[in-house]
Amino acid sequence: MAGPPDYYKVLGVSKNATEDEIKKAYRKLARQYHPDRNPGDKAAEEKFKQISQAHDVLSDADKRKAYDRTNGPLGGFTQNFGQGFDASNIGGFSDILSNLFSGAGGVGGPGAGARSGAAQRAPEARGRDLETEVHLSFDQAIHGTQVPLAVPTSHACPTCHGTGAKPGTSPRVCPVCGGRGVEAQSQGIFSISQPCSNCGGSGTVIDDPCPTCAGTGAQRSIKRLRVNIPPGVKDGTRIKLAGKGDPGLRGAPPGDLYVICRVTSSPVFKRVGENLEVEVPLAPHEAMLGAVIEVPTLKGSKRLRVPRGTAHGTVQRLRGEGPPRGAGKGNGDLHYRFIIDIPTTLTPEQAAAVDRLAAVSPGDPRAQLFKDAGVSREGPESRPHTEEVA
Ligand SMILES: [Zn+2]
Ligand SMILES: [Zn+2]
Repeated sequence: MAGPPDYYKVLGVSKNATEDEIKKAYRKLARQYHPDRNPGDKAAEEKFKQISQAHDVLSDADKRKAYDRTNGPLGGFTQNFGQGFDASNIGGFSDILSNLFSGAGGVGGPGAGARSGAAQRAPEARGRDLETEVHLSFDQAIHGTQVPLAVPTSHACPTCHGTGAKPGTSPRVCPVCGGRGVEAQSQGIFSISQPCSNCGGSGTVIDDPCPTCAGTGAQRSIKRLRVNIPPGVKDGTRIKLAGKGDPGLRGAPPGDLYVICRVTSSPVFKRVGENLEVEVPLAPHEAMLGAVIEVPTLKGSKRLRVPRGTAHGTVQRLRGEGPPRGAGKGNGDLHYRFIIDIPTTLTPEQAAAVDRLAAVSPGDPRAQLFKDAGVSREGPESRPHTEEVA
């Protein structure tokens, strides 16, 4: 009989991969096979479930140890895992561990011994938190939108209600550890605890696995929901959807779902904290003489008065015209930064006009510079003739 899939192979890592390597491999594959990126692709969806499953087990030190023990080169199956597993199982080892464990102390009542173990691990009964990313255009992020999400999740098997045991039977307290899930070994005056080698730490064993979930107690599925993205989210904003994570087991509360926003940047509006900045080119004559110009806003356009003598880099603000800052907090600002656009070529007419400007521009723009530097100039200075410029 085949065991569960080789989780190391599934993630493409070696048997002695570090936690970090496992996390990295998982992230990379999860991104590649995520149902959102492969809509309607059943093979990718199946692969994604396998990857999630492998990560569930290998990222948890206890579960990984138990998995290594039963699937290692020397391992083979310990008696309780000897039945019911085959390669087609969609659940897997991690669900066995977590679900059986949360079952301990519940219906069918393993004795008091089970409870000390259960108390240690009680938080697992609450559904897992889930995390997913959404990709938004700049406009969607500013104005808010509704996006469909496909989130891989697992829920209690409908046949056995999460116990993993065939209907009519129930998991039994592990005879080796008495339901505590740990074995203690005395080493002189020290006592070392490790997960029970018989039950893998779950505290219970299943003699008759449920045929629907093959004893895992869980079924993997893809939860589809529509999420309202509020206006004004930034790249990296995390939205918490309370109670939308994995369901809890045996009446325990569900986990939460975290939606992380990935926002495509705009070629025009650059995020600077709560505000947006826009670079606005000005022609030299506009900067010198002043002008009334039109600039783009989030809703259309507005007119700005550029004062006479505006310097390169000057910023003008339109208050409250920026992105929403969150419920009830109003809007940020739009900042317009003026960039003086110096032409790189001049027509003869333009060159002549600039010549006239030069002729009526007295004064020495660098006098103060040399005074401050305390050096004298070799002079005289000159500029190329119009013909050379043009
Ligand atoms: Zn079941
Ligand atoms: Zn045990």
